[in-house]
Amino acid sequence: MIIRKKFRFEGAHIVRNCTSKRCRENIHGHSYEVEIFLKSDKLDNGFMVMDFILLENVAEFIHCFDHSYTLWDKETDDVKSAIYTINNRVAEIPVSPSAEGYALLFFFVINRIISDTKLINGEGNVKLHAVRVHETQSGYAEASAEDLNLVSFTLNDIKFTEGIIKEWKNKKWWIQIFQIKS
Ligand SMILES: [Zn+2]
Repeated sequence: MIIRKKFRFEGAHIVRNCTSKRCRENIHGHSYEVEIFLKSDKLDNGFMVMDFILLENVAEFIHCFDHSYTLWDKETDDVKSAIYTINNRVAEIPVSPSAEGYALLFFFVINRIISDTKLINGEGNVKLHAVRVHETQSGYAEASAEDLNLVSFTLNDIKFTEGIIKEWKNKKWWIQIFQIKS
């Protein structure tokens, strides 16, 4: 059985090298919706795949991008310097912040968060099935495990500014997922 939980964030970016001139040359924002699909072959004691209350670290991660600038780490030093000067909340990531890039990055990180989540109510082998990122009301990108072949990066390539980190309710979630091998 598959369950789905939806999250939202308001984010800013530039998508370099894309076809649209407006999109590749201008800082702009979107109201993103992120759908997380979880799959299990067993229900817990409450007849649930997994209680959504256990997704608090997933929410913490996605909210890192809310009212933040998402900075591709291949930007020039001049652009990086300007972004870090202007913005308190910056998420620097190893993929371009297209919907596809976000979906891949989110699958990569959330997969680890789910692996790190303690299940104590008779849940089965709960797996992240897919992550769907809606950049507009009419379009989305969806990533699943096999799509990670499209990219190559590690958790060390993802960086959050202190403006983001200081708002984390759980200060340890990021360090914890470095222990996960999957
Ligand atoms: Zn855009």
